[in-house]
Amino acid sequence: MGAWLLRYDGVDPDGERLRESLCTLGNGYFATRGAAPEATADAVHHPGTYVAGCYDRLTSTVAGRTTTNEDLVNAPNWLPLTFRAGDGEWFGSGSAGLLDHRQELDLRRGVLTRRLRHRDAAGRDTAVEQQRLVSMDDPHLAALRTVIRAENWSGTLEIRSGLDGRVRNDGVARYRGLADAHLVIRSTGTDRDVIWLEAETVTSAVRIAEAARTTVTGAAVIRRETRGEPGRIAHHLTVTLRRGDAVIVEKVVALHTSRDRATDGTLAAARSRAERAPAFAELCERHVLAWDHLWRRARLDVGRSAAQRTVNLHMFHLLQTVSPHTVGLDVGVPARGLHGEAYRGHVFWDELFVLPFLGLRFPDVVRALLLYRWHRLPAAREAAREAGYAGAMYPWQSGGDGRDETPRTHFNPRSGRWLPDNSRLQRHVGLAVAFNIWQYYEATGDLEFLSSHGAEMLLEIARFWADLATFDASSGRYDIRGVMGPDEYHDALPGAAAPGLTNNAYTNVMAAWTLCRALDVLALLPSERRAELLERLGLEPAEIARLEDVSRRLRVPFHADGVISQFEGYEELAEFDWAGYRAKYGDIRRLDRILEAEGDTPNRYKASKQADVLMLFYLLSADELTALLDRLGYRLDRAAIPRTVRYYLGRTSHGSTLSAVVHAWVLARSDRAASWRFFLEALDGDLHDVQGGTTGEGVHLGAMAGTLDLAQRCYTGLEPRGDVLRLNPRLPPGLPGLGMELRYRGHWGIRLDADHRGVRVGLRRSAQPPIRMVVDGGPVTTIPAGRTVWFATSAPAGEHAAGERTAGTG
Ligand code: BGC
Repeated sequence: MGAWLLRYDGVDPDGERLRESLCTLGNGYFATRGAAPEATADAVHHPGTYVAGCYDRLTSTVAGRTTTNEDLVNAPNWLPLTFRAGDGEWFGSGSAGLLDHRQELDLRRGVLTRRLRHRDAAGRDTAVEQQRLVSMDDPHLAALRTVIRAENWSGTLEIRSGLDGRVRNDGVARYRGLADAHLVIRSTGTDRDVIWLEAETVTSAVRIAEAARTTVTGAAVIRRETRGEPGRIAHHLTVTLRRGDAVIVEKVVALHTSRDRATDGTLAAARSRAERAPAFAELCERHVLAWDHLWRRARLDVGRSAAQRTVNLHMFHLLQTVSPHTVGLDVGVPARGLHGEAYRGHVFWDELFVLPFLGLRFPDVVRALLLYRWHRLPAAREAAREAGYAGAMYPWQSGGDGRDETPRTHFNPRSGRWLPDNSRLQRHVGLAVAFNIWQYYEATGDLEFLSSHGAEMLLEIARFWADLATFDASSGRYDIRGVMGPDEYHDALPGAAAPGLTNNAYTNVMAAWTLCRALDVLALLPSERRAELLERLGLEPAEIARLEDVSRRLRVPFHADGVISQFEGYEELAEFDWAGYRAKYGDIRRLDRILEAEGDTPNRYKASKQADVLMLFYLLSADELTALLDRLGYRLDRAAIPRTVRYYLGRTSHGSTLSAVVHAWVLARSDRAASWRFFLEALDGDLHDVQGGTTGEGVHLGAMAGTLDLAQRCYTGLEPRGDVLRLNPRLPPGLPGLGMELRYRGHWGIRLDADHRGVRVGLRRSAQPPIRMVVDGGPVTTIPAGRTVWFATSAPAGEHAAGERTAGTG
């Protein structure tokens, strides 16, 4: 099938939602699921169009409680297009009458093609070829080109091309029963070739306007009508065909919302854009050129490995969710892309798996994504204040205005019960924001951003942690209580009266890390700006001293044998019967649901949903972690690292797609074959819907980007730190080579090609200053623009003798 093609033959009602998610087309501004144009929402299909950052809040009553939920709104469906021969039945969704069906997603060009043949009840065979795009060139445009051929009949063909505003956010079965009607239709209308529909979201009052221009070539239109009914509008176009004739129908759609800039009214903008848009061929040409430019910047070759297609697929969906069009939009990274309604389009810590990767490719996009957090700093401050703390407390789930959108209950489909959801206690999300700010700075050296926005966020986040920490005079250490770590299976010790854990190691270590970076930032800022910020934030020397003190004395729990403990009390939990449960249930990824349905709770066991302690090895190099723990007064014995990895590996169910990414990462140096297996599992996550039915509700963007980052940063050992770009390639056995284009500190298109023998680094000619590199921990090599350098790397210990490092220029 090649590295750039995703193909589906036939129809598969059970797998249709998965196909729709994986065949989603988008451009960072909006995305549309790969639903059939003739389909409406039902048990099989879920046509969905989501505009980045377009949220709306509704109140519902579930299980006797009133809850308010904010959703990424399903915008009016622009796809509807169907036909009928004579006065026969409309070509509908489903397989009735389908003779054959093939769907292909061309990842390189961003075009979804569908070919089918259909026989109606009167025996008329019709062939259809459809191509669809959501323009990467003009983010407000999408287009659908349909060629309809009368194979064995002559007569009239009626085409219906419409806009449907009667859509709901009803794509996730678990959320049914909650309010889902976010749109109020304001107007529909027509003017020559163009129909339009304008809707408004119920509470956020965002206007969404779509205008569709439908033109027909290849046959004369003998009748043109516009028909409307509440909430939808359509053009009906009738042509006459002779046996063997084909007609070409082009539908070009413009989408605007009242959140857009540089418009003279939402509807007016959509109408005039649809009227003026070029024909499909030109639109497609420009769209393909825009993708071509993106792919040049996004190149990630994984040698001849079979993984290449999925790597391309992941890059494709990442860039459809966040792209250069994201810049200026005020949006974060929705955990499930713009591909479905799971998690309601909310933004989580998953950005941690996305931004460091993107920062070395599209730093301008990362800056824009960090500004999303910046604009929500007041809300995070307010949340901290309300909870009784200083600084800024970012919410576990973030949406439109930055308040905490985490639901207070969640549904267990296995038991049919609504249960308390304490995941808002994952305060560590703020640490992810801090980490991303710092990573962006390391990759770009953008001191301007740090001064204008980054420093203030970092300081406020650090302040919150220093205030949340309580001092225990008896041990001379600070404790952090009442939180949850990344492992969502544990929200309290067994039998505890209130939710929350004490001294989650991941949280405490990353809090210490954040405090250190806040102190670094104070030292880095130009003195005028530092003085301004200190005054503005009221940050007095005593509080700075507290940041320093907490950064040195946070408690980190360890087991008796030196393994870092996930939280205090973890060591006393019961061992879980992994073999017994696997034998009984098969797939036990969602152990939480299984145990709750049995009347039990994972809180009792040493059983994690996903990497928690191991996140530390994911985010920090062994050197960094050792130094940080050292500063905290703990000695991390190097041998304890593989022991810690093994310990938690045996106690994790991988109930989150993020887990395989982290495990592939942390095993990359010690067990390359196991790392490769986790990498392949992470690659399979969405393509084969490994979590069983979840991809149909949206892709797992963190895991998608995470796999790309495994190739980009992990297997190359790429680490921008200080003023130095470090490399330490260790390719897993299944990976013959790696090739990529990076951006780093003002350099565009740094070529990096690694294999099992070494790594070649090539800088394009430019006026940028040289970059400083360290390979395999060796001496600093300065590489000027225009130069290519080859570094031989030493072989992994135990495999063959370490080779000499040589640096030659070429
Ligand atoms: C994971 C979280 C993640 C969230 C959104 C959950 O299943 O446990 O770590 O942030 O999904 O992707």
